Amino acid sequence: ADHSLEFPSCPSKMDWSEHFPLFFTKLGERFNDEENSMKTKKKVEFADVGCGYGGLLGSFCEVQVTVPRADINFKVGLADTFPEVLSLGLELRAKVADYAHKKILALREQNKSTGKYQNISIVRANAMKYLPYFFEKGQLKKIFFLFPDPHFKKSKHKWRIISPHLLSDYAYFLAVGGLLYTVTDVAELYEWEIKHLSEHPLFMRISNESLKGDATVDLILNSSEESKKVTRQGGDNKMGEIYYVSLFLFA
Ligand code: SAM
Repeated sequence: ADHSLEFPSCPSKMDWSEHFPLFFTKLGERFNDEENSMKTKKKVEFADVGCGYGGLLGSFCEVQVTVPRADINFKVGLADTFPEVLSLGLELRAKVADYAHKKILALREQNKSTGKYQNISIVRANAMKYLPYFFEKGQLKKIFFLFPDPHFKKSKHKWRIISPHLLSDYAYFLAVGGLLYTVTDVAELYEWEIKHLSEHPLFMRISNESLKGDATVDLILNSSEESKKVTRQGGDNKMGEIYYVSLFLFA
């Protein structure tokens, strides 16, 4: 239940050192050298909403690389595709969030010598309600909704994570020019998302073509647990990749 969720009273009161110990000191404390105080100025810039087991953030590499080949991209998540960016997953289910958290700690432990995976973390949170406690206006550069729950029944549509009023929230947290990515294999949900995103004044659809070279496109289609499941089931029906850019937002 929501009452067991922990969240700060506002974004500036969030103790990010628990999530990104390499980048933040405890609230109120400061790193005392210049390089480290730059790190403290970092903010979470990518949010994976309803991240599930956190495959988009990072995974144990499933490919055994015996002979490294420059032409094959073995990157498996946001952590190593965007090593300079802090990415946060938000997940409602306690057990799933706990699993993803432990996985990230294990990845960090396994990669201690390189410091990899220090840039990803997860919070257990109801993203429909609590984003304002974690993020400031214009903070996010990318927000992901991968294979969100379809909530088929009409009476349940209010639980869909993409809806007119929630889109206004997402636009608020996205920087101007920030990107919203969503993928689904459910045709009905795809149409719903297109409708609400197209009608929203703060978002503009951008073509798949214009995202050529954007490494995130490959990741959103292939890295999350749900996307792998759809692939395993022979589904070429990940028809729902949609990209929207956030437009100017009045203060
Ligand atoms: N994105 C992941 C993937 O592609 O593998 C998980 C997809 S799963 C079908 C949808 C996830 O969204 C579930 O893990 C669910 O618990 C989570 N979720 C649903 N509503 C949520 C909310 N309001 N806040 C945070 N997570 C939510």
